[in-house]
Amino acid sequence: MKQCIKYRIYPTPKQETTLCDLGFYATKLYNTDNYKRRKAWKETGEIPSWYEQKKLLRKNHWYQLLPSQTAQRVCKELQEAYNSWYRLRKTDDKAHPPGFRPKEKLSPLIFYQQFKLDGDTIRFSMSRKYRKETGIKKLQFKLTLWREIEGIAKMATILCRDGKWMVHVVYEVEEPPYTSDDGIMGVDLGIVNLATTVDTNGNSTIYSGGQALAVQHYFNKEIARVQRATMEQHGKKTSKAIGRMHRKKKQQVNQILHTTSKSVVEEAKKNKVGTIVIGDIKNIRKGKHWNKKSGQKLHSWSFNKLTKQITHKARLSGIRVEKVSEQYTSQTCSVCGTKRKSNRKHRGLYVCKNCNTTLNADQNGARNILKKYLQDNNLSKSIGAVAVPSIWRSTNVCPT
Ligand SMILES: [Zn+2]
Repeated sequence: MKQCIKYRIYPTPKQETTLCDLGFYATKLYNTDNYKRRKAWKETGEIPSWYEQKKLLRKNHWYQLLPSQTAQRVCKELQEAYNSWYRLRKTDDKAHPPGFRPKEKLSPLIFYQQFKLDGDTIRFSMSRKYRKETGIKKLQFKLTLWREIEGIAKMATILCRDGKWMVHVVYEVEEPPYTSDDGIMGVDLGIVNLATTVDTNGNSTIYSGGQALAVQHYFNKEIARVQRATMEQHGKKTSKAIGRMHRKKKQQVNQILHTTSKSVVEEAKKNKVGTIVIGDIKNIRKGKHWNKKSGQKLHSWSFNKLTKQITHKARLSGIRVEKVSEQYTSQTCSVCGTKRKSNRKHRGLYVCKNCNTTLNADQNGARNILKKYLQDNNLSKSIGAVAVPSIWRSTNVCPT
């Protein structure tokens, strides 16, 4: 299975010039390729195949300045964009063919065989033509926050985001065997609480969503403020600064989701859980998580992301992940099983009018998810009494 690690690199001014050159060539190549494709499309009504394009571009100046696989990857990306446009235009006649990349935008550089990872040092080989023209044979960087992964580095991408240079390395790692731990943990995903867990060994944790909400609230306010100012000064809605803030917001929320999913899996490991059961979030927009009034909503992509992250990290730890339908879990009492609309949560608490149970609403959800899984699979484990949950807060991100 694959594992991606992101490293920061600090190029020297000379190295940075090279990186900017290569990113510029990749953008040029993308646009040249696109120009040729559009022309062919206009003349013949057909999209040229990948092989025709490759033949055509081999002699291209920009193509030759890039390491061959990096260049191929640029063209492949465009090919994929054309393929999806081709599919889309069958149903949508307003669909536009892939656009050109802005001249000043540096394209990411993807390396397959033309890089080598040696301890915490990574080396990238340049193309023959680039070597000839500049005398630079390779680029070498120390990776910061480096950690050793037991696996083979398959792909490395160099990219620049907001002035920071990063290398993303994708490793192929062996799948660990499944653990023999037999605890089962139910996970309820939400907004106020990002995740709430209950397991068959009597543990329960609430992962607060407060930090993510604070980050979103802060950036939404800032973005609105800058938008108003930009509108007044330049008469337009967006600017580079606004785009940067959107990215920063996403990055920070992402960071919180990562630490949360990591902690959920660590907790599972610590508490001898072998199976994590997540509520299926298909109906999230209609359900309890979608509160239009709040104005601060995590989009469904956050839920998908969190589910994916937990699944991936659990697999790396030898823990199974299963899904169960979450349709009624917010209305059903996890203690007596009564389902009533009026039983729904009130100020974060679930109150059952039948058995007088009062507990945290998300904990009730997690207990129901766990219960459903045990029933569906005829497992005789008990969930036990309502545990007092421990509270976990993400604190490593500040909203500035
Ligand atoms: Zn009840």
